[in-house]
Amino acid sequence: MVRAVAATAPCQAASAVAGVRLDLEARILASIFAWRKEAIARDFWPAPQEIRAQREEVRQEAVEWWSTRLEHPSAGVRTIEAIRPVLQQWLDREHGVLTFRLVQILSGHGCFGSYLYKIARREPTPVCHACGAGEDTAQHTLAECPTWEAERQEVIAQVGPDLSLPVVVRAMVASKEGWEALLSFSEHVLNEKEAAEREREAQAEAPPMRRRRTGRRRAAHERNLPP
Ligand SMILES: [Zn+2]
Repeated sequence: MVRAVAATAPCQAASAVAGVRLDLEARILASIFAWRKEAIARDFWPAPQEIRAQREEVRQEAVEWWSTRLEHPSAGVRTIEAIRPVLQQWLDREHGVLTFRLVQILSGHGCFGSYLYKIARREPTPVCHACGAGEDTAQHTLAECPTWEAERQEVIAQVGPDLSLPVVVRAMVASKEGWEALLSFSEHVLNEKEAAEREREAQAEAPPMRRRRTGRRRAAHERNLPP
């Protein structure tokens, strides 16, 4: 898959791969550091083989994360292009843990209409279920969707009004408060979006009796679907 990317977009692939190696190492170190700190706080001093096992587990997760990015380089490049101008600070930072949901906001791979439609192929359109906009992306969620206006204000208080990804990433590495603002936004908003997605899935899987209540238009649409 990486080779196929290189054939179509050599510059993108080269910068992606350079970013991957650095990001992998950064993720592993940050994650191990946080894990050890937490273990020691609980008065558990991990043995070297336990640290190695943990490190391997984190590495596997990070490799999987990047494999997905490279299969769809446009999403990976958006992230890398934002991180690259502050790469040294990104690697040297002493704050800031990458959580699953924060990575979704940074990468665009996650509970966003556009991703669910184009890549995961779990939805029939890229529409934003929160506000009805035609296309829901990580950037729409972060900077535009009116549903998250209150949560966004806390990000703006730390980052400023420009919520383009490079500006946001710069603010994240510049201060713990900047990082925490994005972390908190991601956790809260993605948690709600995931809950709404589960609800939609449950509706779709509900038995016909229940589905009938969702409205005549949907029922008519479903009658037209092939068996
Ligand atoms: Zn929206």
